[in-house]
Amino acid sequence: SMADLKVDLTAPNGKKFTLPTGLFINNEFVKASGGGEKITSINPTNEQDICSVEAASADDVDKAVAAARAALNHESWRDISGTERGALMFKLADLAEREKEVLATIETWDNGKPYGDALGDLGEVIACLRYYGGWADKIHGETIPTTPQKFAYTLKQPIGVCGQIIPWNYPLAMAAWKLGPALACGNTIVLKPAEQTPLSILYFATLIVKAGFPAGVVNIINGYGKVAGQALASHLDVDKVAFTGSTATGKHIMKTASVNMKNITLETGGKSPLLVFADADLEQAAKWAHVGIMSNQGQICTATSRVLVHENVYDKFVALFREEVNSTSKVGDPFAEDTFQGPQVTKAQYERVLGFVQSGQSEGATLAMGGKPCSLNGKGYFIEPTVFTNVKDTMSIYREEVFGPFVVVAAFKTEDEAVRMANSTTYGLGASLFSQNIELAHRVAARIESGMVWINSSNDSDFRVPFGGVKQSGIGRELGEAGLAAYTQTKAIHVNMGTKL
Ligand code: NAD
Repeated sequence: SMADLKVDLTAPNGKKFTLPTGLFINNEFVKASGGGEKITSINPTNEQDICSVEAASADDVDKAVAAARAALNHESWRDISGTERGALMFKLADLAEREKEVLATIETWDNGKPYGDALGDLGEVIACLRYYGGWADKIHGETIPTTPQKFAYTLKQPIGVCGQIIPWNYPLAMAAWKLGPALACGNTIVLKPAEQTPLSILYFATLIVKAGFPAGVVNIINGYGKVAGQALASHLDVDKVAFTGSTATGKHIMKTASVNMKNITLETGGKSPLLVFADADLEQAAKWAHVGIMSNQGQICTATSRVLVHENVYDKFVALFREEVNSTSKVGDPFAEDTFQGPQVTKAQYERVLGFVQSGQSEGATLAMGGKPCSLNGKGYFIEPTVFTNVKDTMSIYREEVFGPFVVVAAFKTEDEAVRMANSTTYGLGASLFSQNIELAHRVAARIESGMVWINSSNDSDFRVPFGGVKQSGIGRELGEAGLAAYTQTKAIHVNMGTKL
């Protein structure tokens, strides 16, 4: 019965709330069909179960897609103005703001990120929805004069039913990045969250109903990648798939999505470099290098995970960086106020990071700091902030995405060598550079193969600024005005004002 599809919970910080556990289809929470599979969410701080939620089967994906298709063609969505769509989005942002403590609490409990960071994520969710709500009535085509008797105009139309597959590192923020532009442009959506973090989005779904979105415009189905994700990416009635996650899964989704030539945007892995030139403000470089890799437990797609330092300042930088990590990276309970770093999201991720510690040691790099598991009362997926020095660009710890509090430091001699080393991976997401020389800074920024560059900073991301990668870090851009392009199609309409044959 419907009554079964919710659970009363009390979070470790004492917050009480009721969480729906069903699949969110047509503005209702429903049971999964078929085998009745469930996802059990685990608290990474103490390894205990939080609760179980419904997991979608391929049949459930069909139902969600059918709901999204019906909503796309329903007058309550198809025929409303951009201004009205924007108003719904502002309402959703207001509700998320009102409930941000509950949402952030669920995020911290399920994901393990420090509560202050989770609140920061909510700020981003709210800002992103408002930003794209503001765009909703400013999306329009152009008029193109052709000959004296003819002209053409363009319409920016929604792509249609969009499948959105998101990761676990920023569960609600990734949902907002995907929902914001898709809704502004008038699409309908089937969103599949990551199975590691299924909870906060279910609470968020209740706000979608409260905001007044017509049934079927947003459908949210938790489920496993190989079942629900696969069914969504391969569905013949889905017009677009947008994905954030690993490069391997992104490639697989690209192939799967080709079955009906879906429109596609991908935001995948990274191994972003941070370059420290000899004239840099080394103290600032050390501080930014620290937040650029150690924030969010290192689980950031743009994390500046390779630090490349000019040989003349290498030792001084490493000393400053170690001091910064030592004094700032307090590992502990994510609900404690002084915690900088919580546990890794799952046991699998924890083991993966520790595996890279072993490979770094066997490849002959120097383990300069950390590298060991730690725990809270013997439990939890905590890892000491880890720094490898004397790293060569042939080593796997230099080339592969670790996705943890794990950084490699290497030296360069010249600007050319710095650029060559920065570009010597298959990825191209972000890059930082530190220098006081504006000519060098802009010259190097242009030469680095990446979608984003931060000059004298690291990991800035802003809803007004395009975000995405080159090479195997992705296809297309999210955020900013560029993010709208991913959710509209341009239709050209030719008008004959009197040319007679
Ligand atoms: P993943 O790419 O497999 O999962 C991301 C999303 O894709 C999830 O929602 C998952 O259910 C879905 N998915 C998985 N297999 C699918 C399939 N066959 N078809 C359709 N959807 C599918 O990532 P992961 O296994 O959670 O993490 C592994 C590694 O990926 C991490 O260690 C990290 O290196 C990287 N990662 C990157 C990001 C990022 O923001 N770029 C985010 C998460 C993970």
